[in-house]
Amino acid sequence: MRARDLLHPRPEGLYCPPGDFFIDPVRPVGRALITHGHSDHARAGHGAVLATKETLDIMGLRYGDGFAGSTQAAKLGEKIAINGVSVTFHPAGHVLGSAQIAVAHNGTCIVASGDYKRQADATCAPFEPVACDVFITEATFGLPVFRHPPDSDEIARLLKSVRQFPESAHLVGAYALGKAQRVMRLLREAGFDQPIHIHGALAKLSAYYQSRGIDLGELQPATLEDNTKADFAGAIVIGPPSAFADRWARRFPEPIACFASGWMRIRQRAKQRGVELPLIISDHADWDELTRTIRETGAREVWVTHGREEALVRWCELSGIAARPLHLVGYEDEGD
Ligand SMILES: [Zn+2]
Repeated sequence: MRARDLLHPRPEGLYCPPGDFFIDPVRPVGRALITHGHSDHARAGHGAVLATKETLDIMGLRYGDGFAGSTQAAKLGEKIAINGVSVTFHPAGHVLGSAQIAVAHNGTCIVASGDYKRQADATCAPFEPVACDVFITEATFGLPVFRHPPDSDEIARLLKSVRQFPESAHLVGAYALGKAQRVMRLLREAGFDQPIHIHGALAKLSAYYQSRGIDLGELQPATLEDNTKADFAGAIVIGPPSAFADRWARRFPEPIACFASGWMRIRQRAKQRGVELPLIISDHADWDELTRTIRETGAREVWVTHGREEALVRWCELSGIAARPLHLVGYEDEGD
């Protein structure tokens, strides 16, 4: 069958007519398959939701138990039939529970990767390339200028600054799902054994990661009720990026603003946000990872979703792979 008849964009999201389901719909639908828990992909209000157990748990933490009419947990690698269409979830390496979704029917296989990365990340299962006819890729960092350095180098720069400025609190902006826990885990791997102070918005998700066996070490709420300002000298405080724009941040002594994001490659972006110590740590594939992954899937056709589609489409065409942008709207990733 033609790939476009198996999966195509609708205003609600990617739709599979024979299976009558959507992948990561941005509006409430009857049946949704969800790649991961970031809020632009995982929304509340669908009739039935199929996702990994971790993604379902994360949605429950964020939206409450009644976030969908019914839920079903997909095991990685397990084939599930939906109205005769075969669906399989494979790890995407993006955040805990993140999965690519392979949709196969009448001899055609399409893989919707959701968001993904190839850099090692101890907080989630690594990306597995899946052979397919059509590979649907994101392109958040789909320009050759985006090359993410090793995350251990970025964490080493943070720890060096902590040693250099022992009177200061280092405030690290990191998205609440995935990035924050990855930064915590990286700090532990680098030998930082002090308690890490966290904004309240990270508490539930970080506790969930710990409950799934990801050791983040001792986390303490970053509140002044029990602490004086001086107690935060030399501390590392992690919070969602939005928290650092408000009064919350001013309570800390001589704060140094840090931000963990792939966008920190762009110096102008760091400056605009008032970031003094940009940390280039991304949960998305960089240019080399995108192009390597496309080759590894062996796909004869690539569809490019949110991000900088044009450069990647052009690269595919120059490499002899048919490609087109899908122009899906509504995905402004909260986890870049
Ligand atoms: Zn995401």
